[in-house]
Amino acid sequence: MNLNHPVTYIKGISVARAELLFTELGIKTCNDLLHLFPFRYIDKTQFYTINQLQQNSAEVQIVGKITGVKTVKQKRGSRLVATFSDATGTMELVWFKGVKWIKDSLKVNVPYVIYGKLNWYNGIPNMPHPEMETVKEYKSKLQMAMQPVYPSTEKLSTKGISNKVMRTMIQNLFQQAYNEIEETFPAYFIEEHQFLGKKESLLNIHFPKNQELLAKAQYRLKFEELFFIQLQLLQKKLIRKSKLKGFVFEQVGEEFTDFYNNHLPFDLTGAQKRVLKEIRKDVGSGAHMNRLLQGDVGSGKTIVALLTMLLAIDNGYQATIMAPTEILATQHYNGIIELLEKTDIKVELLTGSTKTKKRREIHESLLDGSLHILIGTHAILEEKVQFENLGIAIIDEQHRFGVAQRRKLWEKSSSDGRAIPPHILVMTATPIPRTLAMSVYGDLDISVIDELPPGRKEIKTVHRYDSNRLGVFKFLKDEIAKGRQAYVVYPLIQESEAMDYKDLMDGYESISREFPSPKYQISIVHGQMKPADKDYEMERFAKGDTQIMVATTVIEVGVNVPNASVMVIESAERFGLSQLHQLRGRVGRGAEQSYCILLSSYKLSSDGKTRLQTMVETTDGFKIAEVDLKLRGPGNIMGTQQSGVLNLKIADVVKDSPILHVARKAAINILQEDPNLSEIKNSSLLKAYEKLRKTSGIWSNIS
Ligand code: ADP
Ligand code: MG
Repeated sequence: MNLNHPVTYIKGISVARAELLFTELGIKTCNDLLHLFPFRYIDKTQFYTINQLQQNSAEVQIVGKITGVKTVKQKRGSRLVATFSDATGTMELVWFKGVKWIKDSLKVNVPYVIYGKLNWYNGIPNMPHPEMETVKEYKSKLQMAMQPVYPSTEKLSTKGISNKVMRTMIQNLFQQAYNEIEETFPAYFIEEHQFLGKKESLLNIHFPKNQELLAKAQYRLKFEELFFIQLQLLQKKLIRKSKLKGFVFEQVGEEFTDFYNNHLPFDLTGAQKRVLKEIRKDVGSGAHMNRLLQGDVGSGKTIVALLTMLLAIDNGYQATIMAPTEILATQHYNGIIELLEKTDIKVELLTGSTKTKKRREIHESLLDGSLHILIGTHAILEEKVQFENLGIAIIDEQHRFGVAQRRKLWEKSSSDGRAIPPHILVMTATPIPRTLAMSVYGDLDISVIDELPPGRKEIKTVHRYDSNRLGVFKFLKDEIAKGRQAYVVYPLIQESEAMDYKDLMDGYESISREFPSPKYQISIVHGQMKPADKDYEMERFAKGDTQIMVATTVIEVGVNVPNASVMVIESAERFGLSQLHQLRGRVGRGAEQSYCILLSSYKLSSDGKTRLQTMVETTDGFKIAEVDLKLRGPGNIMGTQQSGVLNLKIADVVKDSPILHVARKAAINILQEDPNLSEIKNSSLLKAYEKLRKTSGIWSNIS
């Protein structure tokens, strides 16, 4: 039997069952079924001693005695912790719920059988909410055998594909096709890493003989999954570096030098200089640059972008910056023409609201090469916009752009048949945790600005409940009296949601009452306004004509008003961490002490609480991103959709990051020695890799 055969080849799988497996779980072939991994195991065949416990996802059964019980106070309520010992060691049993009556029912120094999943903390196991009975009770019952538990759906179980049926099907599959399972790793590699073989790994992931073999099987399969992703990403990078030509910006010319020496308004930070060097090395190399520039809000990415563009111009190329919103594009435009005031460089702005006549002018000057820098929104992607020779495209805040859009950008300067795409620099203020960056952007080069310009004061962040709003308003008045300005932001998660919109308008009204004109002037900006109205309001605030800006998250990205020093976030518990961090970054841009006030109701989920607390505790974007990743998982972090990290069957990029590191290193070693996997000893790798490449959709020109 061939593993690519449909599952109907397996004994016990009728056409009807096969259809169910497909519609419910996407399983078509024997191979698919082989890779439907159990998500947990019931193991009551065996007793473990505390010193035998392994770090895997199985549940274990232990006999021992409770030697002590204590209640530990925590932020909310308390937890019950029992010390549990056998002859070989000690562990803890933990309860978060029903603490009171469990405490009363626990018997100290009476032999118990406990059963459950382990958590590991600092290398010490604990078992939350164990199933437990006294040994006496246990002996009076019949015990079940060890079994895998498979993912299921309601329909599967009502149509008779119970866990037991699933188990039998998979058992049959192993009986019929065990010998068809091919090893994907070369022998030397297996030996080097002490892996379990592929067959054994698959067998033990479904029907583990014991905990140790299960742990080994899990390790091998997780490693394999992560390894092949890394292999893909790294090879893609290699191909780009070796095969994909890039324009060469070899000389640092007049424009760059003149600007750098005469018009740069400040000294670059060490980090900015370093990043600029990295970029220069890339664009001078003859290879195509595809670089991600990470830098926290306010770290000064814009000037790096500008200097990079000057480099392009010095070498006869055009440059473009694309921003996700009109506000942001306009701001880049204003900032850049101010910086370039004393030079001859021509800069234009193209957005959805650019007038037809202006648009035509821009199209022409792009084509005849007289326009050097085009700044804009998605409007730049329109087909009509063609450059004479676009050398570099800079994308600001890239999480708003999809892959397809980036591909359009790629084609901008190859319209006349030249095969060389513009260099790409993607700038993001959302720091990506290292682990994730490796698995999502493993094929990009990454530069990090990890230093803020000097003289910035740390933003003071506090969390206040709604009932303190008057106090907050008082504080705002004091700050305004000192000449400062403030933002008040409302969550409009979906700009169309009527409820949120009403909240915003109610808020605007109450603030208008509290801060009456003519003493106070208030701006309002939200997504339902016309771009021109938005700009007008932003402009008034930027010029200092208004003191308060009531807004939705449209101001989240990039807006720069240095005199604004207070950020009030309403219903802060409803925002995600990265959004909160972005919003906070709107203040702290000037010389004054800045503040961020997070207002929330008393009703907070535990995640909500963690988010607010994280914001109060740190301004470090990378720390915030780590917490975010832990809270939300990789699925919600930008870029992950395209990367394949979500389709992982067994590994978890967050929890398995130690394995990821080893796998990446192994992939690097192999590619260094054998970049095309053409050596005989790597033939099994090549075969598995080719198969994967065909089936996964993660290959695209621009990441
Ligand atoms: P972001 O990385 O968030 O895009 P910006 O490029 O908007 O940050 O820079 C934030 C502010 O810091 C701007 O007002 C900019 O002029 C200023 N800035 C950038 N680099 C420096 C520097 N090296 N020294 C002083 N100020 C700087
Ligand atoms: Mg910016």
